[in-house]
Amino acid sequence: GEGLAVSARVAPLGSRLVLLLVEDLTDARRIEAVRRDFVANVSHELKTPVGALSLLSEAVMDASDDPEAVERFAGRMQIEAARLTSLVQEIIDLSRVQDDNPLDDAEPVAVDDLVAEAVDRCRHPANAKQITMATGGAPDLYIWGNRSQLAAALGNLVENAVNYSPARTRVGIAGRRVAAPGGDLIEISVTDQGTGISEKDRDRIFERFYRVDPARSRATGGTGLGLSIVKHVAASHGGEVTVWSAEGQGSTFTLRLPEAAVSRDGRDRSTAVA
Ligand code: ADP
Repeated sequence: GEGLAVSARVAPLGSRLVLLLVEDLTDARRIEAVRRDFVANVSHELKTPVGALSLLSEAVMDASDDPEAVERFAGRMQIEAARLTSLVQEIIDLSRVQDDNPLDDAEPVAVDDLVAEAVDRCRHPANAKQITMATGGAPDLYIWGNRSQLAAALGNLVENAVNYSPARTRVGIAGRRVAAPGGDLIEISVTDQGTGISEKDRDRIFERFYRVDPARSRATGGTGLGLSIVKHVAASHGGEVTVWSAEGQGSTFTLRLPEAAVSRDGRDRSTAVA
């Protein structure tokens, strides 16, 4: 009698335990698979510029009696070295945004500052393509978050907008406050008149190393990591990044992030009260 009662009580608990264990295991497997995938991708991505550098250095040696050729090859070596540098930097950035909790050193970050910094970062490529950067005034908008991570996120979106737009187009960056059930949010949108992104690619562009057109991305110095960094930063701040796009017309990327409670004189409301 008693044995049966006990096993009847244990059985549902046991099966739930087994279920938890299985879930844990599949979760661990999934994480392991993602990690393995990432390492494989990184190795592949590193091999491209390293391989090119190795071939180019051989070419330089073979062309030692042709100064013009040497100069040409050396120039291409510089481009490959720069690509390698930016790839390594983005891998470091990505691992940093994945490992650090951005809210550990969160502070009110002015949207105006973020926008100015992002525009500054893209000034050269934008000027080269005669792209007009139009920023909507966003005074008194503050995000609660990690300044450098937020700057990296917006910088990536603006950089993409410039990279994937034809010459003499316009990139708009605008910030605004939107009411949301869990408290106000700050929305920053980056709109371009570029190539646009097909529906089938729209879900995938936030994956690490995913590019719609790898050759084009590489040509503009892209690594395929930018949007995965943006997505991580948004999520770890309790926000999100979304994309709207029409092929051949352009795209709008929108960051939604928690607002910081800052009064109009720029002081944190909570400290102002204390
Ligand atoms: P990348 O370094 O290649 O720019 P990202 O992760 O930033 O990597 O973006 C992934 C891909 O998404 C890009 O290779 C590009 O194909 C596409 N993409 C990103 N932003 C835009 C945009 N504003 N317009 C069109 N395509 C874009």
